[in-house]
Formats: sequence, structure tokens, C-alpha cells
Amino acid sequence: MAHMIDQSKCIHCATCEVECPFHAVLISAEGVFSIDTEKCRDCRKCAEACPMDAISKQV
Ligand code: SF4
Ligand code: SF4
Repeated sequence: MAHMIDQSKCIHCATCEVECPFHAVLISAEGVFSIDTEKCRDCRKCAEACPMDAISKQV
């Protein structure tokens, strides 16, 4: 399990990257934000901080 970012909602503010205690948020060379499923521990800090409500638990 891990959290994931809905790309259609993301405004690339980087709040999730700053908030993640486990450094699980990745930023591609193109500026696309994603979550490393190997590192994510489902703590929800990123989801609670995201201003666009773009992050949710993968099902
Ligand atoms: S906090 Fe939300 S809007 Fe900001 S970069 Fe992360 S997923 Fe995108
Ligand atoms: S749920 Fe927690 S561990 Fe996973 S990406 Fe968000 S802040 Fe990082």
C-alpha cells in the first residue's frame, strides 16, 4: 500500500515533498510529483497538507 498523487489536481506546489518525513515524494526532471511506493509508509502527512486534496491512498 502507498499513497498516490492525482496528476489532474496537482499544482506542483511541493508541499508534499516538504512534509513527507520519509522522503517518499519524487520530482521528475519534468516537474511531475509522484510517490515512491517503496518508501511511503501511509502516514498521510502529505495528504493532509496538500492544498488541492490531490493525494489519497492507493486501492
Ligand atoms: S502538495 Fe498536492 S498540489 Fe502540491 S505538489 Fe504535492 S500533490 Fe501537488
Ligand atoms: S503518506 Fe506519508 S510517507 Fe507516504 S508520501 Fe505521504 S507523507 Fe510520505
